[in-house]
Amino acid sequence: AEKIKMSTPLVEIDGDEMTRVIWKMIKDILLDPYIELKTDYYDLGLENRDKTNDKITEESALAIKKYGVGVKCATITANEARVKEYNLKQIWKSPNATIRAILDGTVFRSPIIVDSIKPFVKTWKKPITIARHAYGDIYKDVEYRIKEKGKAELIFTSEAGEVSRQTIHDFKGPGVVLGMHNLDQSIKSFAKACFNYALDQKQDLWFSTKDTISKDYDQTFKNLFQEIFDNEYNEKFTAANIEYFYTLIDDVVARIIRSEGGMVWACKNYDGDVMSDMVASAFGSLAMMTSVLVSPEGYYEFEAAHGTIQRHYYKHLKGEETSSNSMATIFAWTGALRKRGELDGINDLVDFAGKLEKASIQTIAEGVMTKDLLNLSELREKKAVNTENFLREINKRLATIR
Ligand code: NAD
Repeated sequence: AEKIKMSTPLVEIDGDEMTRVIWKMIKDILLDPYIELKTDYYDLGLENRDKTNDKITEESALAIKKYGVGVKCATITANEARVKEYNLKQIWKSPNATIRAILDGTVFRSPIIVDSIKPFVKTWKKPITIARHAYGDIYKDVEYRIKEKGKAELIFTSEAGEVSRQTIHDFKGPGVVLGMHNLDQSIKSFAKACFNYALDQKQDLWFSTKDTISKDYDQTFKNLFQEIFDNEYNEKFTAANIEYFYTLIDDVVARIIRSEGGMVWACKNYDGDVMSDMVASAFGSLAMMTSVLVSPEGYYEFEAAHGTIQRHYYKHLKGEETSSNSMATIFAWTGALRKRGELDGINDLVDFAGKLEKASIQTIAEGVMTKDLLNLSELREKKAVNTENFLREINKRLATIR
């Protein structure tokens, strides 16, 4: 059969370690035979980031702004150990943080659901998507270790010279203090990204903060969400037969555990960081979590939620067999190809993305899986395959999907 043609390039962002190995295998086995892939390629492997003084990361984000859709492989976030391992010029910033800052996006993470893999929470039947605000709070804080008696104050000086001054605490001895901030503009674009995503997915949107305790900070989040909902989304939500629901974070935690799932849960930056890992492991495996960054302008970056699977990579380098789960990385590609197809009106590309997802889920449903899923699957007959054979098994089924 003829290969599917693309009109606009997809921004392809390569990464590190085992996921880099998987990246190439997915292209060779599942994509190249069916699609004339048109990509704008950026190598964010740590060596190239070091070589380009991390310019390549910025360029890849700008390319997503130019073309609208990107797909990213997991990358190493440098630390002291990596500086030694790769002989780096410096501890480069997290590529994801750099890209997020440029796109000003919100990250949505959802689990890939397979029938025979039951979530640890028995009531959950549908995916729960966590929307994490990706700007500010403790991730851009200023901290100070107080070593002796003294007074900590919160001082704001306006451009006009007006000063607001509040005592944080009169310290009688050592302690700690931190200052953090957020921006109305960022909170508003977070709100819009969440409302748009919920409409797109036709799922209810839940939003939670701790506004009873944080009477100005969290209250601002709550009020801005409500204002935008009332002015711009109320009617659209009614038309789509979905709801916007605000409540305290402790209330959501209690409700989520007893729910069936099937909602988007919008979280502040830190809450999203923590809750997405909880939801991921409760659904079974980090390897089955997909992630998409959506910017307020409508740019998309798709990726797996997991890291570079370092341990498997070292085995791979020693020539040992690995059994790495490529599901989330496959779904990053299908998400990106589907979005590209929708934007460019290429139905074949949209169809192909759906078929590849079906074939991947069917493979696991038929008992062929990587080792990480073996204990989670309730099937009686199941077998573990290695990294490459898992992809070949998916490819076998791809041909049979209508
Ligand atoms: P990791 O997600 O790579 O691994 C965490 C654990 O889950 C490991 O035990 C691993 O074996 C297992 N695991 C994860 N994905 C798997 C898969 N697809 N198949 C089978 N098992 C899987 O996270 P880590 O070990 O904390 O970090 C490794 C590297 O990845 C670090 O350098 C970190 O900076 C980077 N990282 C990158 C991203 C990203 O680019 N989005 C996210 C997280 C971590």
